[in-house]
Order: sequence, then C-alpha cells, then structure tokens
Amino acid sequence: YVLKDENILVMRKLGEGSVGTVHKVEYLPTRKIMARKTMAVYPDEANHKQIVRELRLLKQCQSPYIVKFFGAYFSDDNDGQSIAICMEYCEGGSLEAVYKRAAQLNAQIGEGVLGKVALAVLNGLVHLHSYRVIHRDVKPSNILVTGRGEIKLCDFGVSGELVDSIAQTFVGTSYYMAPERIQGDRYAVQSDVWSLGLTLIEASQNQFPFPPPGHPQLSVIELLEYIIHMPVPEMDTRFSDECRDFVRVCLIKDPKERPTPQQLLRHAFVVRAAAKKLDLKSWIERVWGFKK
Ligand code: ADP
Ligand code: MG
Repeated sequence: YVLKDENILVMRKLGEGSVGTVHKVEYLPTRKIMARKTMAVYPDEANHKQIVRELRLLKQCQSPYIVKFFGAYFSDDNDGQSIAICMEYCEGGSLEAVYKRAAQLNAQIGEGVLGKVALAVLNGLVHLHSYRVIHRDVKPSNILVTGRGEIKLCDFGVSGELVDSIAQTFVGTSYYMAPERIQGDRYAVQSDVWSLGLTLIEASQNQFPFPPPGHPQLSVIELLEYIIHMPVPEMDTRFSDECRDFVRVCLIKDPKERPTPQQLLRHAFVVRAAAKKLDLKSWIERVWGFKK
C-alpha cells in the first residue's frame, strides 16, 4: 500500500497550528485511524527528496514516549504543494486541550499527572537525543495523550530541510523558547528543558505564565524581552517542594547551569513520579467523559 490522498478518508479536523492543519483520517486499505498533518511547502524537487530522507529517521526513532510515525507524502493541489505527515492518532488530545478542559470544569491538573508528564517528556527527550535530535518545540500542544493514557511527544525538529521549506513566515518564533534561543544562540539539549518547565507551570495554572497575572499586556518583542530579563515564574505553593524545585531548575536562565534531561531523570520529583502507580487511562476517560 502507498500513502497518498486517494487512499485516505478525511474524518474531521483536529486543530490548526501556525504552519499546518491536523485531521483525523482513515487509511482506507487497512482502515487504520491516523492523524495527518499537512503543511504548505515551497516547490523544489531536490529539497523534497532530502526531506523524505530526513524523515526516514522518524521511522527508526520509535519509543513509547514518542508519537508513532507512519509515513509522509507530498501532494499537489490548487494552493500549491504540501507535505502530509501521517502519525498515530492520540484520542486523549493534547496537554493544552486537557488543561483547557480542566479549566472549563473549574478544575486543575494535579501533581501526580504532572509528574507523569515530566517523566514522559524527559524520557522522550533522552530518546531523541540518542539520535542527536533536539526537539525544539516542547509545549502543551505538542504533548499528546493516547486513548490508553500514554503521554507522548510529537512535532520535533527532525528535519532541518523541512523547517527551511515550510512556506510560512514566523516559523520558529515561540514563547516557549529558552532565553538563549531568544537571543539567537545555538540550541542545546537544555533548551528543551526550559520549555518543559514553562509547560508544567502552564498546565498547572491553566494559563501561560508570562507575563505574570496582573501585569499589563505586552507586545511580542516586549514579551520576549521580559522572558530574558525578568524573574522566572514558579509553581504555586499547593505543590510539593520536590515538584517546585524541579520546575525551578528547569527555568534556570543560564543554559550551562540548567540540567540536561538525563540529569533530571534522577531528580526526586521524577523518581517519585516513576514509582507512583497512576491509572492514566481512567484519568483521561474521566477528563473527556467516557464517550469522546
Ligand atoms: P500546534 O501544536 O501549534 O497547536 P499543530 O498543527 O501541530 O499546531 O497541531 C494542531 C492541533 O492538532 C494540536 O493542538 C493538537 O490538539 C492536534 N493534534 C496534533 N497532532 C495530533 C495527533 N497525533 N493526535 C491527535 N491530535 C493531534
Ligand atoms: Mg503541534
């Protein structure tokens, strides 16, 4: 079988980001349900070949902490050329969707679940780094939950060539970028750790932590300046000391002082999270109600 538009039935739209649109689809030859992300790209044969070569790495990169990759194809339509990336459909939605759901129910994600999120993201990052891949875009919408309650990372920067050919401006500007990234330095494995720290605070308080609540609105540039120069946010006092210390070290501004994902797997908060029995399948079913 081949992955191509003719073999795919589009079921519904799951969401839209700055560079692409994600649909729930059915692969007709096998009736497999998948998520398909399409992104407009510049037409360029040689470059598309290189993208396909780079994406091949995704096939090898399988891990319980990484959203499964099924394949990718290019297609032409009236709006030009696009690439479609087919991946595992995650029924539980993103961590962003989950905390927004919690907010609707006047609830908040608790420390037990956040511990499992930290554990999964760190394991995913360590796995990616073993293939010399830095994620580059850790944020709540790129942490997905499967119907079985597994927590997985998606949308990592495996293909530099793909990033270059995405037909969109403003690719790569993100409020989750570490201070060294905002200042244009090279990416280090520690840059993903900063983004994890912000992600945990956001998921715990149902809103992005910069600027702090009560602070006047900021423009994009002002906000990035704020992140570089002003104090970092903290987890609030309803969380344990281990949890708050974990986030504190994730948000150390100097990347050389900030721990790596490997080091953080030994942090007391993560060690405790790993030992804790939590039924995440029942949890995600409760979040969405039994029939989603
Ligand atoms: P962003 O991550 O910036 O929101 P994306 O285009 O990557 O933008 O994704 C759009 C939305 O689609 C995400 O917020 C997420 O809720 C949803 N989504 C992405 N991938 C999947 C997937 N594999 N399974 C289920 N939902 C997904
Ligand atoms: Mg995404």
